[in-house]
Amino acid sequence: MKNNKTEQLRKCPHCGKTEHQIKAGFNASGTQRYKCKECGKQYTLEPKKHEYSEQTRELALKIYYSGVSARGVARILKMNKSNIANWIKKTKK
Ligand SMILES: [Zn+2]
Repeated sequence: MKNNKTEQLRKCPHCGKTEHQIKAGFNASGTQRYKCKECGKQYTLEPKKHEYSEQTRELALKIYYSGVSARGVARILKMNKSNIANWIKKTKK
């Protein structure tokens, strides 16, 4: 029987295999964790989405729009630059 196609395709970020990806409980923030039986490593599929509070986000944008570069904001708030860039992208319309 090959009825597995409805299941979401999981891909190991370490070795890129899609076979033998098994559920392995949850991590500390409650995200489903998977284990790759090909290379034996564990990983989570969904990146944390609410790592930073709304307040931090607003602050970051405020600093950015006051003339600081995204890179500068990242340095001030000690966070990932791509995170800041993401917020800016979402705010621009
Ligand atoms: Zn793997």
